[in-house]
Amino acid sequence: MNFSEVVGQTAIKDQLSELIGLKKLPHALLLQSNEGRGGLPLALAIAKNLVCEKRNRSEEADSGGMFGAMLPPPEPLTDACGTCPACQKAEKLIHPDIHFTFPVYRRKSDSPALSYDFIQEWRSAVTQNPYMNLIEWLQATEAENKQGNISVAECHEIIKRVNLKPYEANSKVQIIWMAEQLRETGNTLLKVIEEPPADTIFIFVVEQIELMLNTILSRTQIVKLPPISDEDMIEYLTKALSMHPDQALRVARIAEGNLNSALALAHSDGNAYEQLLQKWLSTSIRLIGPHAAESSVQLQALTDEFAALGREHQKAFVKYALWFLREIALLNNGLTSEKLFGNELTFATRVAQALNVDKLLAIQKKLNDLHYHIERNANPKIAFYGISFELYRIFTQK
Ligand SMILES: [Zn+2]
Repeated sequence: MNFSEVVGQTAIKDQLSELIGLKKLPHALLLQSNEGRGGLPLALAIAKNLVCEKRNRSEEADSGGMFGAMLPPPEPLTDACGTCPACQKAEKLIHPDIHFTFPVYRRKSDSPALSYDFIQEWRSAVTQNPYMNLIEWLQATEAENKQGNISVAECHEIIKRVNLKPYEANSKVQIIWMAEQLRETGNTLLKVIEEPPADTIFIFVVEQIELMLNTILSRTQIVKLPPISDEDMIEYLTKALSMHPDQALRVARIAEGNLNSALALAHSDGNAYEQLLQKWLSTSIRLIGPHAAESSVQLQALTDEFAALGREHQKAFVKYALWFLREIALLNNGLTSEKLFGNELTFATRVAQALNVDKLLAIQKKLNDLHYHIERNANPKIAFYGISFELYRIFTQK
């Protein structure tokens, strides 16, 4: 990935590119990035820039040999060239001086959990979506319900690797994605981070920085990625995905700076979510009482509709519902929503009148649970059906 392909984050990209140009990049960087803000894409761009042959050619080459004095010096590059052999290898995630560590599990019971055993799946998953989250990565490995972590054995591999000379480039890069999964194991790496072998750059990509050991944090330069701005998101969606500007605006507003959510929402029909949510809430509130029989039939139909969406759309629908509730909370507090219009606003206003803040929070919690269960392969029909009765209980609580 080039810096130019990382969505938004312009200030950070400029700063990092400048440091690379000046050869002043800190040897241990920590990119703190919530889901979908681009921590991994940025790490990939840094690594590519560090190995690119045209960006890192030697001084003699720049002088142009015996005709050097006659030629003006070339403009320094501010991004990887994208065409040299090193860039091509970096792009395919096969450059021998770019190393990846990421959470995995034991492939066989008698061997340790090592990232390299999953490198094929890693290359394919990252190529498909470098904005993926941890659960999506583990699903790409068919982990079923296995948890991923970064093992002591993997840390020893890292130490061994960075102590070797670079194979082809002037430097070697070790990317550790979801480094919070190191937990206490991170202690194994302290010495090598503090005194890394020459020309070694560590890039930690972290979502939950509070899980990182302070001893590691204090040895790294922390770069905090803000949410991707609506403008940057809209530009990407309209240009790269050829999305209609109205839909791009809508997706950007719901995604709230998370490109991974935006990608899931991008392939969805926003109106379908809106209608499903309205029918679902209206049905849930009448599940017991005089309309019980009719509502129960409707709930069956909605459950089938939900199940038919498939996992990614189910998650995107829940994200939409959570966003909708946050907008309702604004209305509830007497504020106006700048993001709701037309039918959506009419419906939201009705819901806001029926629900107080406690009930909204309780529903949000249930929706977060639903999202959690879907991500972890729960049966979508059972999860959706069960939560509908919980919604009824919350709606009708005194
Ligand atoms: Zn290049």
